[in-house]
Amino acid sequence: MAEQRSGRPMIDLRSDTVTRPTPGMREAMASAEVGDDVFGDDPTVVELEAHVAAMFGHEAALFFPSGTMANQVALQLCVDRGGELLAGADAHVVTYEAGAAAAIGGISTRTWPAVGAALDPEVVAAMIRPSGFPSVPTQALAVEQTHNLGGGGVVPLATLHRLAEVALAASPSGLALHCDGARIWHAHVADRVPLFVYGQLFQTLSVCLSKGLGAPVGSLVVSSRQRIAQARQIRKRIGGGMRQVGVLAAAGRYALDHHVARLAEDHARARRIADTLAPYGVVDPAQVRTNMVLLDLTKTTLDAPTLAARAEQHGVLIAAMLPHLARVVTHLDVDDEDVDQAGTVLGALLAAG
Ligand SMILES: *Cc1c(COP(=O)(O)O)cnc(C)c1O
Repeated sequence: MAEQRSGRPMIDLRSDTVTRPTPGMREAMASAEVGDDVFGDDPTVVELEAHVAAMFGHEAALFFPSGTMANQVALQLCVDRGGELLAGADAHVVTYEAGAAAAIGGISTRTWPAVGAALDPEVVAAMIRPSGFPSVPTQALAVEQTHNLGGGGVVPLATLHRLAEVALAASPSGLALHCDGARIWHAHVADRVPLFVYGQLFQTLSVCLSKGLGAPVGSLVVSSRQRIAQARQIRKRIGGGMRQVGVLAAAGRYALDHHVARLAEDHARARRIADTLAPYGVVDPAQVRTNMVLLDLTKTTLDAPTLAARAEQHGVLIAAMLPHLARVVTHLDVDDEDVDQAGTVLGALLAAG
């Protein structure tokens, strides 16, 4: 673990991806039954996939080495080469996946204006293009739950219902609705929406086990049996077929059993940091719904890289997302004391300017 000069471990709030497997999780990994998953022979993977599919009320699921691969394979299930995907301008699938939709999927993307989690289904409806030569037919819509650049915001269930209606009405066969659910667990805990309710709204979902849930690796795509069979083929094509991967699936299963309900603690700690920093005019605590706090530094004399560099000197790591936007994320590996210490450090730096 990185240490600051005093010997105290750094308080790492850059992302919820920085967690390390707990002793219980490592035990589950060590004792996992395994087999060759390309042959479908790994019982731990097979069980995890069935379990996650059932959680969302879908027929099947497929284990992936990353959320990016899971999202991009799901998008290839929903959109033909040369077809169009609509997503938010700040969506992970279009901003943080290295151009994979175009480079690998041959997918055209068009974006609606970035408004965090507060998307407007009527704006999306007006953007949909019908099929027919020579236009680029819209084939799918992607929503992010929770919304990463939207500061961990939760898309309200009513908005998702309306968007599903829009997708259904858009063409004779309907458009596919994909959920980038890397942190759907956080939305589930924050809004108390059952996972199967989210599941019913989407044709495909990607969900992540290595963000807030604390597994070292792993995402799944959840969908119909037919789509998942196709996804298995695409995953192999792009090099994502894995062998005795039950050791990783066991970590994910452990995370689902032990680390979902506790996300409420991460949410409370994020809110606590926001309350501490609100007096400096950088965050509205009411906007903090889950485990992220976005610090808007436009009205301060500090930019995000400067604040991050100074915080690091005091043992606190945060992420500089944009020149004037910093991000603080709570997770399994930080406790109340860490969060209070981070609030004190960041508050003092903001006060000093
Ligand atoms: C992290 C993340 C992903 C995928 O991430 P990987 O680093 O590829 O596992 C997808 N969507 C969102 C919203 C994310 O935050």
